[in-house]
Amino acid sequence: MSIPIYTYDAIIVGAGLAGCAAARELQNAGKKVAVITKLHPLRSHSGAAQGGINAALSDKDSIELHEFDTVKGSDYLADQDAVEFMCQKAPETIRWAERMGAAFSRSADGKIAQRPFGGQSSPRACYAKDRTGLTLLQTIYEQAHRAGVKFWDEWYACDLIYKNGKVSGVVAFNIRDQQVVIFNAKSVMFATGGYARSYKINSNAHANTGDGLSIVARHGLPLEDMEFVQFHPSGLSGNGVLISEAARGEGGRLYNSLGERFMEKYAPNALELASRDVVSRAILNEIREGRGVGPRKDAVYIDLRHLGKEKIMERLPELRDLAITFLGLDMITDPILISATAHYSMGGIPVDIPGHVRKNNTEFVEGFYAAGECSCVSVHGANRLGANSVLEALLFGRFVGKTMVAEIDNISLRPATQADAQKAIDEINFILNNNGNESVTGLREELQQCMTANAGAFRTEETLKIAIEKVKELRVRFNNIRIKDKSKVFNTELQEAIEFGHMLDYSLFIVESAIARKESRGAHYREDFTERDDENFLKHTMAYMDENGNISLDYMNVTLGKHELKARNY
Ligand SMILES: Cc1cc2nc3c(=O)[nH]c(=O)nc-3n(C[C@H](O)[C@H](O)[C@H](O)COP(=O)(O)OP(=O)(O)OC[C@H]3O[C@@H](n4cnc5c(N)ncnc54)[C@H](O)[C@@H]3O)c2cc1C
Repeated sequence: MSIPIYTYDAIIVGAGLAGCAAARELQNAGKKVAVITKLHPLRSHSGAAQGGINAALSDKDSIELHEFDTVKGSDYLADQDAVEFMCQKAPETIRWAERMGAAFSRSADGKIAQRPFGGQSSPRACYAKDRTGLTLLQTIYEQAHRAGVKFWDEWYACDLIYKNGKVSGVVAFNIRDQQVVIFNAKSVMFATGGYARSYKINSNAHANTGDGLSIVARHGLPLEDMEFVQFHPSGLSGNGVLISEAARGEGGRLYNSLGERFMEKYAPNALELASRDVVSRAILNEIREGRGVGPRKDAVYIDLRHLGKEKIMERLPELRDLAITFLGLDMITDPILISATAHYSMGGIPVDIPGHVRKNNTEFVEGFYAAGECSCVSVHGANRLGANSVLEALLFGRFVGKTMVAEIDNISLRPATQADAQKAIDEINFILNNNGNESVTGLREELQQCMTANAGAFRTEETLKIAIEKVKELRVRFNNIRIKDKSKVFNTELQEAIEFGHMLDYSLFIVESAIARKESRGAHYREDFTERDDENFLKHTMAYMDENGNISLDYMNVTLGKHELKARNY
């Protein structure tokens, strides 16, 4: 049976903030664009962003301070040209979002309200209560729709068509009935989001399985800085569901079992509003040293009671609901049990500022772009500041869309052939027909346990070796899976198996990149190398996978700038 081939000017995979913003640019410029998304666009993880989006708007703040905070927060691994670009364009991005229809919360004098966030010199996070991401996503999705963008929702992209250094489309299947289709286009953008689902305790949507990264890596293209996974300080105890940094921004305090406000020891100036890596390690350290709280002593308290009912209801209503639903605790009357949760991926598909995907340190892939959390441009370096990633997704999504518009007429369409779908079809058939004795759910559980235990906020050579061996073992066992559902209609078991294959591949990138980085920087903390080592490791990791699934590492220079290297204290 022949596979249908649909032809567009541009294909975007992912309908979060980055994908929707880019699609709108292309459509408004008269290009024929399709967005492929495995979820309904409004279910993208962007919609879960609670706390805010950064921009230096107030008289007391400045773009230079925003840049400085971001570079310091990144532990000096961010590329300063990209940081400058982002911080300079941030105020305009907020005004644009507002013009598009996003209703931000206001202060008493009618200005866009801004709340303090960790690691920032000034209250800088614009917000819409604690539903910032949802407000923005609804707005930008609506505007993309209005412009006439064609959304293929509940379609799963499973392969990139990449030949002779050039990209010419993607292969996807309809989740409703498994129909495989080739989307042939002059240019392709990946905006597939993050990958914290490979950790047991994480704050991410079920869909955040890093598909885009593994699809790219399987073609021998590099992934950058994969060892830098952010652990957010405040996930609800036991399940990791996020209590936004807005809770600390609004004044939440952290206490251990002795009633000590322990951040005084770790970050005497910034306290709870130190950068995330610092606060997460402090929390885990308190727990490890026996000062945890809760039934399993594996949490600390965040106390918001002093804010009062009115402020909590006005500023943090969703967070309150989450804590009531998942823990039965009301933050108006009770302190809430929290601990660190895997949250965000600083690393990803390497791109330059206009969004071109790198083939290696010096060359780019023609017709291929990426933006948002799946990409690494790198504005976050070794640790992202809160409220900088909704900004990144929206700002770079829009900007990369403009780049694509400017370049598309110079790219000729490379016609796709039936053979381009073969790899995807083989993968689907293997999963449907393989008759082994391993279950995807069981293997996934083992992966997540292993990553949380061995490649989490604290790592050593020994734990990372365990993780590498485990991921390799799980890969072998993956060849022996069997799924029960053989049907064609909404076969979620098939989809989960494909996603799990992706999780295995990018997890190996995380642990192989982490074991080679013998220093501590930002979110990557090696207990056997506790200091930052600028002499040997002020560089980006560029990791490649060969046909046999083995990883090799290379490094790329960091773009330095006016913010000089310093020790990082909060
Ligand atoms: C709970 C939570 C709260 C957060 N709060 C904040 C905050 O307050 N401020 C902040 O700055 N950041 C926050 N973040 C981070 C921020 O929300 C994300 O980094 C950002 O929204 C990512 O946007 P994106 O467009 O790159 O991807 P996403 O919004 O994650 O979208 C990914 C898209 O890719 C699609 N997709 C993925 N794989 C496939 C595939 N194989 N086939 C087809 N489609 C695919 C999905 O369907 C989805 O549409 C938060 C994150 C979480 C988890």
